[in-house]
Parts: sequence; structure tokens; C-alpha cells
Amino acid sequence: MLRDPIAVIFPIHGTMLRFFNMYVYYKRDAGRYFSKEEFLNYVEKKTIRTIQKYDMLRYDDTIAVAVSGGKDSVSLLYVLDKIEKKFPTELVIVHVDEGISGYSELSYPIVARHAKKLGYRLYHTSFKDLFGFTIDDVAKYYFEQKVDLEPCSFCGEWRRWALNKLALEAGATVLVTAHTLDDFAQTIMMNILRNALSRLSRLVLSREKTIEGFVPRVHPFVELYEKETALYAHLLELEHNDAPCPYAELSMRWDLRLFLYQQEEKHPGTLYNILRFHQSLLRELPQQKITLKRCQLCGYPTTTDICRAHYLERILRSLKLVSRF
Ligand SMILES: [Zn+2]
Repeated sequence: MLRDPIAVIFPIHGTMLRFFNMYVYYKRDAGRYFSKEEFLNYVEKKTIRTIQKYDMLRYDDTIAVAVSGGKDSVSLLYVLDKIEKKFPTELVIVHVDEGISGYSELSYPIVARHAKKLGYRLYHTSFKDLFGFTIDDVAKYYFEQKVDLEPCSFCGEWRRWALNKLALEAGATVLVTAHTLDDFAQTIMMNILRNALSRLSRLVLSREKTIEGFVPRVHPFVELYEKETALYAHLLELEHNDAPCPYAELSMRWDLRLFLYQQEEKHPGTLYNILRFHQSLLRELPQQKITLKRCQLCGYPTTTDICRAHYLERILRSLKLVSRF
């Protein structure tokens, strides 16, 4: 019998090559190997199960998919495109330009090409148009020590506000983001480190109640690791923006990301444990009654007189005024 020539020359490596051709992923926390087909199927099935588990989508929704152009959001778009075909839902894409040079300008063309290819309407805007500042402007003030908050704080708050605005314009009944298990574990840990119990208690996975002026948000990738959504994009060769955000390393999130990767590596299942712990905690916490007001500037639901997005804009405007004199 003829032997595999690779196996003859490299007996060990030949076996490994066949092995890697057959399996694309080893899920450490489950101790299971996946072939390409099995893996793509796993991501799609897991997304469907998560949507059902947390009652995220309705059969007649207009779904605004937040697509930044990164691997996670592009994967989400293609998974939803596949699974929502069975329902009378409508998908639209929403995209926000942060104004980060070397990063943001690469994203929009990619998102536009995906929208065209799949035949979805694309709604987009920029922080510059909405707030008068780019994240590069914010970073400049931060490095000059004129603001204490790192650029990610502005970016996160403004993005939430901008995506909501775009979703409202699109007539969407729900907004879907590609936050993964990694993102949620980091957010939970950040809120613990900042002693932000009220924020932690508002971090719910099931579909939020509809409040006028606010489109409910859901996160169908919440039980998938970021490396899994990245592999999905890679296996399907989906075009995405691979450029790293130049300001990410300034944030607490970045430090936690590295720490949690190490923990997950040493103790598979750590990220799931954080998510489960948070869910147990929510069950123990008394239900908070929050009275919502309307932002005096934009009408966005808020607990204060001015929403956080506009509060941050005001800080920058006051700096601009000071620097004029
Ligand atoms: Zn506002």
C-alpha cells in the first residue's frame, strides 16, 4: 500500500497537516474539534439559540444591524442575512464614522460594498456631523490633558446615541450589535472596577422594553467568543477592516481584555463564568425603578437633564471656547 509521501518524509508533521486540513477550530471550553462546515453551522445555530433564549427578535421586525466594518459586525451581518431569510423581517445597515484617521476612512467603503452585495439599505453618519468633533479631536484634547476621559469613553457614548438616531431614521424596531462574549465580560468587569452597580444592573441581555425615542438593542453574539466570530469572517473570506483602533490601548477595556485572555487561556470557560455570574447577580438584585426624562437638547431618554452624549459634547465646546481667548 502506498503511503502518504508527506507522512513518509515528515511522519509527525504529515499527520498534523491532515489534522489541520480537517479541523479548523478546537473549542477548548467544550473540548471539541470542528471542521469548516461544522464550525459555520455552529456559529449560525448558536446565534439562533441566543436570539430565542433572550427573546431578541420578533418575526416582523425591521432590524437595524450596526456594522462598523470590523470582523465581528461583518460576520453578524452575514449570519443574520442567512437566518432571517426564513422570516418576514427586514434588515437595514447602520454605520457611524468616528473620525479616526488610518482607521475610520477604511470602514465605510467596506460596509457600502457589503450593503450593495446583499441589497440592504445603508444609513450612515459621522461624529463630526452630529457633534462637531472627531475622535481624533477628542484624543488631541486628551493628550494635551484638557480632558480626563479617554477617547473610548466619548466614542462609546456617541456611538450609542448615533446608532439609535440612525435606527430611528430607518424606522427600525430593534437595533442589533455584534458585541461578543469577550465584550460583555470586559464590560461587566469594568463596571465592577468602577463600582458602577446601577450600570451593571441595566446591562440586560433580553430585549429591552420599547421606550419612545429609544430603539431596543440586542446582541445575538453574546454567547460566542470574539475569536469565533473572527474565524467565521475568515472562513467565509468576508472583507473587513483589520486596522486596529490607535486609541484602544488607552482604555481600561484594553487592559481587561489582555487580562481576561490570559485567564481564559489558563482556565477555559472564564468568560462564560463572568456572564453567568452577572445573570445570577441580576436575579438577586431588587428591580430598580428608573424615572426617565428627555434630554433638553435632543429628546433622547435620559436620567438627567441632558443626555450623556450631549454632556460630553458640551465639555469639548467649553474647551474650544477657552482656547479661543
Ligand atoms: Zn441629548
